[in-house]
Amino acid sequence: MADQSRIFFGTIMKYSNVDELREVIKELNRELELLEKSKKAICNMVLNEKQVLYCPKCGSININKNGKYNGRQNYLCKDCNRKFNDLTNTIFHHTHLTYKQLEQAIGCVINLFPIRKMAKILKISTKTAFTLRHKIISCLKSINSSFKLHGNIELDEYYLSINLKGTRPKNMPRFSKKRTSHGSRKRGISNHKVCVTSGIDENDNMFFEVAGTSSVTKEMIKNTVIPRISDFKKIITDCKSSYEDIAIRNNWNLKQIKSGAYTDDENNNLANINSLHQQLTLYLSNFRGVSTKHLQEYLDLFCFLKYLNWTIEYDDQLKEFKNKICTKNTTITYKNVCNNYSIFDFDKIYADYNFYPSKTTT
Ligand SMILES: [Zn+2]
Repeated sequence: MADQSRIFFGTIMKYSNVDELREVIKELNRELELLEKSKKAICNMVLNEKQVLYCPKCGSININKNGKYNGRQNYLCKDCNRKFNDLTNTIFHHTHLTYKQLEQAIGCVINLFPIRKMAKILKISTKTAFTLRHKIISCLKSINSSFKLHGNIELDEYYLSINLKGTRPKNMPRFSKKRTSHGSRKRGISNHKVCVTSGIDENDNMFFEVAGTSSVTKEMIKNTVIPRISDFKKIITDCKSSYEDIAIRNNWNLKQIKSGAYTDDENNNLANINSLHQQLTLYLSNFRGVSTKHLQEYLDLFCFLKYLNWTIEYDDQLKEFKNKICTKNTTITYKNVCNNYSIFDFDKIYADYNFYPSKTTT
């Protein structure tokens, strides 16, 4: 590609007439605009990024070509008989998204623009913008999970109040409450708080996982922390007992910092993870409250944006983001984006509120 553009550039530079060169540039811009609007550009980008062609349903590479539709190649899986094309289950499935709109959408996500601003820039409805943002973010989970934490690892939990934003009144498990800085009726860490386990290693690899409600348990650590760490030397935590038992069972070299102290006598500390938590608080404040059912997606975005900022030059971030997500599968559609499943049973959590919406009077 680089050679091609060099030859092309050489040809253009032979022009010594300013007006002629301007005409050529005008013509090129027209061509570019047409290409940006075409569905073919999207298809070509996805095909370029896909190293192997596989079935989106069963993952088999045992596939046959199965005719063309609308100029797009269809395939048939020989193992599960699923018919699909290059864009099936990607964020472009069932959309009229153009190449330019995709770049604009990713730009909006990187800059944390509100949905209304994104809708205005892309010239689409707010619901479509909301769906698109969630489709894009949902692709980041599998990218983030491929980064494992090594070496010296700091672990700690982050707690948030349950947020039921976007829940229809008839589905509310409790009364709506006024916004307060502390949020919860119960004080301290109760089952009304969401526990997010998190960690960062010496190379700035990190993870944030929604683990459950209430204080961190051994079960939560087993499910959300252990899959994310490998080849570690030292694990540093605060003095919660849940970690001790796990450490003995899994042969961790565990260093616990006593409460009230900043370091232990070997100078181990939790400075990096604490700083990351402060940055997360600032990031979440951009969205003016993130619904608990969408919290994991926003945490995935936080981790991915940190990776972009720390490892990719600013000018290349959009391209990196676009290339990484364009081949990933998403289950989010226009229809299911709002009733996205939640890992929590809110009716059970709020059982002690004894709240029955049908009996409420206002
Ligand atoms: Zn298949």
